Amino acid sequence: MELKVCKFGGTSMADGNVILNAAKIVSADVSRRYVVVSAPGKRFGGDVKVTDLLIALYDAYERADRATFEKVFEKIEGRFLGIEKELGSDLKMRKTLDTVKNEVLSGAGRDYCVSRGEFLAAQIMSEILHVPFVDATEFVRFDERGILKEETYSLAARVLANYPRAVIPGFYGLGADGKVKTFSRGGGDISGAVVARGVNADLYENWTDVSGFYACDPRIVDAPKCIEELSYRELRELSYMGANVLHSDCIFPVKSAGIPIRICNTFRPEDKGTYIVPAIKRRVGDTVVTGIAGKTGFTTIGIEKSMMNAEIGFARKVLSVIEKHGVSLEHLPSGIDSMSIVIDNTFLQEKEIERIVEEIEAAVSLDRIYVHENVALIATVGHGMAKSIGTSARLFKALSEAGINVNMIDQGSSELNIIVGVDAKDCNACIRAIYHEFFN
Ligand code: ADP
Ligand code: ASP
Ligand code: MG
Repeated sequence: MELKVCKFGGTSMADGNVILNAAKIVSADVSRRYVVVSAPGKRFGGDVKVTDLLIALYDAYERADRATFEKVFEKIEGRFLGIEKELGSDLKMRKTLDTVKNEVLSGAGRDYCVSRGEFLAAQIMSEILHVPFVDATEFVRFDERGILKEETYSLAARVLANYPRAVIPGFYGLGADGKVKTFSRGGGDISGAVVARGVNADLYENWTDVSGFYACDPRIVDAPKCIEELSYRELRELSYMGANVLHSDCIFPVKSAGIPIRICNTFRPEDKGTYIVPAIKRRVGDTVVTGIAGKTGFTTIGIEKSMMNAEIGFARKVLSVIEKHGVSLEHLPSGIDSMSIVIDNTFLQEKEIERIVEEIEAAVSLDRIYVHENVALIATVGHGMAKSIGTSARLFKALSEAGINVNMIDQGSSELNIIVGVDAKDCNACIRAIYHEFFN
């Protein structure tokens, strides 16, 4: 019999009614045997996700700000007691919430606190489905650097073999120190993929609030085209570059087993959604571009030097400065006489870029060095681009017609993507211009 793992995101767990909806989806198909859930998300615009409340709770605990701690805890309590009331059954929420509070106050740690949204959500889903709760700490393992350990998959297989059906909290596991450890934000998608790999599922269904993976962020372009099929590689490129409907790392657990992912809408379960598959043989309609995604928060250092290519060791000397600062490179496009170094701002401390520039100037002789701060990177992705001539020409013409200045270009050697760097303020306009060029 077919075996499916379903992961319900925060919007699908936001309140009692929505949770009932999710439970109905699970019950509608006997092959949906393993369910992974996120913490309750936003119920309406302006609402706060439970995970964000838990982060605020821990911050207040760390500052020893007891008044704020109590205020935030009340809000968290309100969310879970509200769900219990809406569902009309005794889910022992108050008792569990009290335990969580005591544990946090006795030093259980940040990740323990932040992960409790998923812990409680999974208890609720387990109760209403009458399916056993299995804690993620039983099989999700991280190493000292916080990286998911390979043994997670065999452990998941072993633990879950004892349960024909189970509800599992997403987003966390056990760290090398034996304490609860979370993935990065949005990591419930990775947990779902881990479970899918552990039980060797035929399909990993990711239930969210949109009817699939769109060609670009629906908050930037109104009703963009829904992609029917996406390859693992396209997904990785798009989600890494900001299409956060799926976490960019959720591809790794399912990749070697070739398990397809389906993105489905909890509020429109009849919609087909998007299938993410190992490789695309032939795409219906054979579009040139599959999707566009972008994100802000980068800095570019541009270096110009005549005959740079002839100077042995030039790149090494420049890059060793970056390495010495412990900063990782995002992109490194280069030409005969120039190179650009693209850095994610989260790696940079205050004024560090000035020190890096000074040290590069001391390490090599160059004609010009300049810095663009507040850069957005926009990736245009698709297997179809390698086959069609003139894609970059169309893209740059569209950007020039929209009056957008491009300050960095990186055309990946795989011809799967073209990445442009633009001023952060032009990020959305750039995505819109590329979308309209290739999809309208
Ligand atoms: P969940 O709570 O289910 O984990 P997320 O908020 O993490 O949901 O992801 C779904 C959201 O991702 C959508 O509501 C949408 O606004 C956003 N999104 C960004 N880029 C895309 C895209 N290319 N396709 C679909 N949704 C996207
Ligand atoms: N609840 C976590 C977050 O808000 C994880 C997730 O939703 O996947 O980031
Ligand atoms: Mg998500």
